[in-house]
Amino acid sequence: MTTLAGIKTIKDLELENKRVFIRVDFNVPQDKKTRAITDDARIRAALPTIQYAMDKGAKVILASHLGRPKGKVDPIYSLEPCAARLAELLSCEVLLPDDCVGDAPKKLIGEMRGRQIVLLENVRFHPEEEKNDEGFARQLAELCDVYVNDAFGCSHRAHASVHALPKLMREKACGFLLEAEIAKLGKIITDPDKPYLAILGGAKVSDKIAVVENLLNLVDMLVIGGAMANTFLKAQGNDTKASLVEDDKLALARTIMEKARDMKVDLIVPVDVVVAPSTDATEGKVVDVGAIPDGNLALDIGPKTIAMIEGACKKAKSIFWNGPMGMFENKAFSAGTFAVAKAMASVRAFTVVGGGDSASAVRKAGPEIQMAFTHISTGGGASLELVEGRKLPGIEILRSGNA
Ligand code: ADP
Ligand code: MG
Repeated sequence: MTTLAGIKTIKDLELENKRVFIRVDFNVPQDKKTRAITDDARIRAALPTIQYAMDKGAKVILASHLGRPKGKVDPIYSLEPCAARLAELLSCEVLLPDDCVGDAPKKLIGEMRGRQIVLLENVRFHPEEEKNDEGFARQLAELCDVYVNDAFGCSHRAHASVHALPKLMREKACGFLLEAEIAKLGKIITDPDKPYLAILGGAKVSDKIAVVENLLNLVDMLVIGGAMANTFLKAQGNDTKASLVEDDKLALARTIMEKARDMKVDLIVPVDVVVAPSTDATEGKVVDVGAIPDGNLALDIGPKTIAMIEGACKKAKSIFWNGPMGMFENKAFSAGTFAVAKAMASVRAFTVVGGGDSASAVRKAGPEIQMAFTHISTGGGASLELVEGRKLPGIEILRSGNA
């Protein structure tokens, strides 16, 4: 069960004059040449927790990874751009020691004054981080009195700053971002309002097997779209021509369709698709799934299928969406994905989207649509693992009794 049971939130902790270690996810996208931050959403997402701790008189110590420095110091992966951006956003001084453990951070933390924050340098400069090393965690523990995890996107990894460190700490809690992720994603997998609709798409059936299997036990309606739908269409006997199909998953697709029938889940598989001879075509053609022309691939769902999904959205009290309905990066094949975003935004249901590409599609759909969602998960892999029904090490270690 994924709920907040046994997990303290930052509001339950005594913070005044305490050294508060907050694990944030500042793994931001950067320009390859200049290292300028191209999207600061992850930094902004951590602000409520940081601001709250500062307002309560805490000495705030932040830690994050950035990129894949593979356990070595590499200036390309320095958190320096994040320190600068954070200083701008909070109008305060952000100090960046050149290492996350040892004398440099100890000295800076010892000398901290009001409205200063210490952002530790990239924890992945040490190979021990990804090894969940206890000795390394002890060195981090020396820097702080209290531990807060606000890095949902990293909580599916048993790494030292999200697992071995909180294991050592008596006082620990989730931040506001992690709290919202657990509460919202937790609700759609433990206690969803019914009728419950799940909309699944994306590139491959093989990526989503565990998600489909877990959701089948919970939902009343299930949509299969995206490239993943091609495998289902072929399993139904359609000639999918040049479309991406996972031939080794045809039997699995049949089993899922049978299980849906047995469990009386209303399964919606595309009845029409948008096709083209190549993925870089500038326009597509709508055809029924039984009439894909030779040499063509299905790259988006068609208008009849969209209408079916809109109808299902209107009936639902909760909707979970993962996986684009088509190759939405190409405008010619983006209509299905944006129609789903719009349909979910225009109903009065509990609406959650999870998955890196799906969440980015919702953001691309514009601020009005974004705001209408109950929750847009910040974790790609982490949100999928939760929906698969798995326990995330970074969350479980926060529960009382796990010290
Ligand atoms: P998420 O990150 O939300 O979990 P996935 O990574 O599973 O989603 O899938 C996203 C990718 O699937 C996108 O890059 C999109 O172009 C691709 N995709 C979806 N439908 C199709 C299709 N019909 N043909 C080719 N690619 C598709
Ligand atoms: Mg993806």
